[in-house]
Amino acid sequence: MAQSESTESLLESAVGTAESPVTEAFALLGDETRLAILLAIWETYDPHADDNAVPFSRILNRLDVDDPGNLRYHLEKLRGQFLRQEAAGEGYELRAPGMKLVRTVLAGAGVGDVSMDATEIDQPCLSCGAPTVISYDDGCLVWACSECAGATPEATDTAGFLSATPFPPAGLRDRSPAEIQLASIAEARQKKQRMFDGFCPDCSGAVEGRLEWCADHDGDGICEHCGKQFVAWARFQCQVCKRHDISSPKTLALFHPAVVSFYDDHGVSIRFRADDFENARQVFDRMHDHGLELVSTGPPRVAVTASMNGETICLTFDETAAVVDVRR
Ligand SMILES: [Zn+2]
Ligand SMILES: [Zn+2]
Ligand SMILES: [Zn+2]
Repeated sequence: MAQSESTESLLESAVGTAESPVTEAFALLGDETRLAILLAIWETYDPHADDNAVPFSRILNRLDVDDPGNLRYHLEKLRGQFLRQEAAGEGYELRAPGMKLVRTVLAGAGVGDVSMDATEIDQPCLSCGAPTVISYDDGCLVWACSECAGATPEATDTAGFLSATPFPPAGLRDRSPAEIQLASIAEARQKKQRMFDGFCPDCSGAVEGRLEWCADHDGDGICEHCGKQFVAWARFQCQVCKRHDISSPKTLALFHPAVVSFYDDHGVSIRFRADDFENARQVFDRMHDHGLELVSTGPPRVAVTASMNGETICLTFDETAAVVDVRR
């Protein structure tokens, strides 16, 4: 039922009717004073406080506006959708959509002005072992090898391209280039996991997965048929907002509880924080060492194998990129 309503009504509500909630929300924020009001209320917001209502007088002072009537007019417009007014009447606080909007503004602050030239980081290329570099432009962090052709040379003009990760400019603050790289990977990994778990990290919509493979794969380096290093890959797409992701089953295996406990039984944690270089490196090495094999094309099945201390675990992925079998 939800499915049949989804895309058409989204599009219709955006372009079809002037009074739709979507167009109204954008119209409400067409006045710069209103965004300033939301930011002013957010400034005093304390996530751990019981009461976050900001008095009218304080908003007036903070925005430095001369006309209280004008401020009341804008507050009234925002009330309901973005702001809640205290029962007593004089204080305003952000509702969840208002908070989400402010966070989006903060995460993207400076998009377009923030960039970083290619900088070498202490992480060797997984393919050839040469030093790698990261650069940042247009909200995207690019990781590249300084020597070899990289992971998918046909997909980009960037020499030695290894990966590109959308990353908000706010994530660059107070971090060294190596820390930026790790934080972006940690974030992308969590988003991959959410896609794999079937819901979209951007809109919480339903996600569908599908397995793709190369029928004539040449597994020695980059395949000349598919331009990829590995024989199979998984594509995920959000059915609501079209967020999409491509993942190696080698990576997806690390999200399965049977693999987590397999490693745990051998004293290895495959969890890492955004500042835990040592463990992150170990996790990447293990992921890289996973065996990946296309075991059948009808029906499509891919097996990923992890080994430690003479013991192995094998996961089988089906055509929807879901795990259908675990053997240990
Ligand atoms: Zn390389
Ligand atoms: Zn291939
Ligand atoms: Zn989505």
